[in-house]
Amino acid sequence: MKKFLFSDAVLAWFEHHGRKNLPWQHPISAYRVYISEIMLQQTQVATVIPYFQRFMEKFPSIDALSQAPLDHVLHLWTGLGYYARARNLHKTAKIIVEKYKSVFPTTRSKLETLPGVGRSTAAAICALAFNQPEAILDGNVKRVLARFHGVSGAPGKKTESILWPLAYSHLPKIKMREYTQAMMDLGATLCVRSDPQCGCCPLKENCVGYQSGEPTRYPGAKPTKKMPVREVKLLVLVDEDKHILLQKRPALGIWGGLWSLPEFQVSDFSDICFQKFNCVFKKKKKLTSFRHTFTHFHLDIFPIQFHVIRNKMCVMEDENFIWYNPLRPVSIGLPKPICKILSWVK
Ligand code: SF4
Repeated sequence: MKKFLFSDAVLAWFEHHGRKNLPWQHPISAYRVYISEIMLQQTQVATVIPYFQRFMEKFPSIDALSQAPLDHVLHLWTGLGYYARARNLHKTAKIIVEKYKSVFPTTRSKLETLPGVGRSTAAAICALAFNQPEAILDGNVKRVLARFHGVSGAPGKKTESILWPLAYSHLPKIKMREYTQAMMDLGATLCVRSDPQCGCCPLKENCVGYQSGEPTRYPGAKPTKKMPVREVKLLVLVDEDKHILLQKRPALGIWGGLWSLPEFQVSDFSDICFQKFNCVFKKKKKLTSFRHTFTHFHLDIFPIQFHVIRNKMCVMEDENFIWYNPLRPVSIGLPKPICKILSWVK
């Protein structure tokens, strides 16, 4: 009887069922793999594809990305979330251009020094772009390996220390690019979180999870933590031309470097200093409040709209404020909840 070899089974499955026509696979380059890998952190392939295509149209090379204003990069990231990824992307582009003469380093250790590039992302670039024998351990691969080997610990550093050597132990001698893509595809299409399709899986005969009859027991569940709730009141100042006042957020913290609506703390709106924004109050309108959830907390958003008359003779002195025309959007980064409020006003 032929000995079971994990990588052979995975590669044979990939031949017929793997994803071979993703936009970042044609043509393949370190830059395109890098951008796709950063976009795919915390985000599914179907969501990433249109963002990747728009990004490549605008920034076809690392040089183009490094020369772009951060606002333009954040603008193309709008709606994708986790904006630190876009800021790191921009920083990395500058480093690659200045330190590496626009050529991506080809070793995992050097790639790992770039902002926002962890061990698994660096390994994915090495394997997918340079066909090097490096193991990845993204969320999908962790699940496949935890089930196949029956690793029951909850996701975290301790479980990862068990999974990394296992991931390396299965690497094939050839076809690293195909194998790496296959592992990601297997986790995304068959070994899915709540209803794994074990019947179609090339690993089932030797999979501890499948053989136990309860594959979803692996990996263990994360201990549930109650998420804290924060509140914010947002000022939606709309002038007679339907332009809306936006404020640039500080570089660090939530929505860092993006344009948002000014926050206000006062309970009585008559305390709001409209003069600061060169305008006078006309009428007020309460908008629907809603919740936006970040990784570590919920944010309850209370927007209040004020129609104002603006003194257009006075120029706004603070460059962190702009009067934004939603009908003629410019290239700036806007968080998704802010886009939602702007669409109500529009
Ligand atoms: S047999 Fe099932 S649990 Fe095991 S790796 Fe395949 S899909 Fe996952």
